[in-house]
Amino acid sequence: MSTPAAHPAFPAFVSGAKKHLIDGQWVDSVSGRTFDAVNPATGKTLCSVAEGDAADVDLAVRAARRAFEGEWSRWTPHQRRKLMLKIHDIVLDNFDELALIETLDMGAPLSRTTNLREWTSQVLQFFASQCDAVSASAPRNSLPGDFLTLKHLAPVGVVGGIIPWNGPLIGLWWIFGPALATGCTAVLKPAEDASLSVLRVAELMTEAGVPDGVINVVTGYGKDAGQALAEHGDVDRIAFTGSVGTARSIVRASAGNLKRLQLELGGKSPDIVFADADLDKAVPGAAMGVFTNSGQVCVAGTRIFVQRSVHDEFVERLRDFTGTIRVGDTLDPTTQLGPLISERQLERVLRYIDIGGGEGARLAAGGGRLAGDLASGFYVEPTVFAGASNEMTIAREEIFGPVATVIPFDDVDDALRLANDTPYGLAGGLWTRSLSTAHKVSQGINAGTIWVNCYGVLDPSVGFGGHKMSGYGWKGAREHVESFLYPKAVYINLD
Ligand code: NAP
Ligand code: MG
Repeated sequence: MSTPAAHPAFPAFVSGAKKHLIDGQWVDSVSGRTFDAVNPATGKTLCSVAEGDAADVDLAVRAARRAFEGEWSRWTPHQRRKLMLKIHDIVLDNFDELALIETLDMGAPLSRTTNLREWTSQVLQFFASQCDAVSASAPRNSLPGDFLTLKHLAPVGVVGGIIPWNGPLIGLWWIFGPALATGCTAVLKPAEDASLSVLRVAELMTEAGVPDGVINVVTGYGKDAGQALAEHGDVDRIAFTGSVGTARSIVRASAGNLKRLQLELGGKSPDIVFADADLDKAVPGAAMGVFTNSGQVCVAGTRIFVQRSVHDEFVERLRDFTGTIRVGDTLDPTTQLGPLISERQLERVLRYIDIGGGEGARLAAGGGRLAGDLASGFYVEPTVFAGASNEMTIAREEIFGPVATVIPFDDVDDALRLANDTPYGLAGGLWTRSLSTAHKVSQGINAGTIWVNCYGVLDPSVGFGGHKMSGYGWKGAREHVESFLYPKAVYINLD
């Protein structure tokens, strides 16, 4: 496995001390404290990063408030769109470097991170196209007398963004995109396990001409910087992506000033394979629906329900396919899967694998940590459990690792009962050649996003969202932009 330093394109950015971006300036923490950014493929430190807490968050929120109330509030939609298209161009021009930073810092292989280029282009163009959402309409009224009624959509103000480590290069645009499009300002707290790509994007955004204070990044731990942002009395809205436990604490922290919240949480999504499915597509589709990004994907289809008549054949083919997945050096462009984010996550996933075996599920593939060249990284084999039931811990709790649990079912009713027997409702998939089954089952799954004969595709202008304990709020599409706005009615008496 090549060490990062040996890689010809090792970017200068991942060395030296990284600071917060507050009010257009790169600053150390008030406390002076730092933490280390680690490459999960090697376990080695890349560089130090400022460790923010309530004091740094307060400075960033004040800067964001000043910017919101200043010149930025007078920018026209056209000016904001031009800025966003400039950001688009600069980010795309530097995308190879961004992908490499993401790979080094969070462990997704280059094959995945470089592939985000087209998606990034789409998401930025989509949000740029939404700059006219800050608008007014003149609804008719039935008031006695002569009244003109106007309805404005106005920016909510300062938005706090809190994102996880599993894809910061994706997650940051769900905050910065709608903030810039609507004229809000933002303070973003990335996960301490993966801050570097966010910092580099913020640097590029400043180069593109984002005014001081409009976007701010405070790095640090959730319990300090994240908690302070969620509690801050001058933050109008929190857009959070992460786990249910943290979401509960954010809901409590938001109570002080009754912040608006957007919560995008975890899942235990069902992926249902019917006997009439094209298994040549369903096997790799369902496998990568779980294993992509080493299973560290909120929408991962971790519970694979397979109709009994094709169950054994499916498991055999899934095992064979899993054996062909290339796990390894994240800088090798042919690698499909990298390590987990951290030693802690590795231990968590291995513990679930133990529990699965202990509760009687049969290990059909994988099941262990990878050794040899990969032993210093946080690698776990793509793992398949078969003969499992929906009551087992591995079918109930989010593992957030490359672990698929295959469960047999009998018919449509049985599949839907099992699929919906979960506290989550983020996503679901199904594989069938029957139009009727496709419609019935996609309507029957209680989740925000359903895929038929595919898994995990996402268009920013369509978007996705959660239901039940997977949270609320829509990412992408007009709904997302409007959630950064509030309606205001104006009644004008013309008499
Ligand atoms: P997490 O522990 O909830 O962390 C998410 C973010 O919250 C991190 O930036 C974290 O900071 C911060 N945080 C932690 N404690 C906090 C607190 N008390 N107050 C405010 N912020 C706090 O989640 P994770 O384990 O890193 O991420 C995986 C989870 O995210 C999974 O459940 C996954 O399903 C979910 N996810 C959901 C989506 C979606 O769109 N639905 C997308 C991706 C991931 P530190 O990590 O720096 O401490
Ligand atoms: Mg890292």
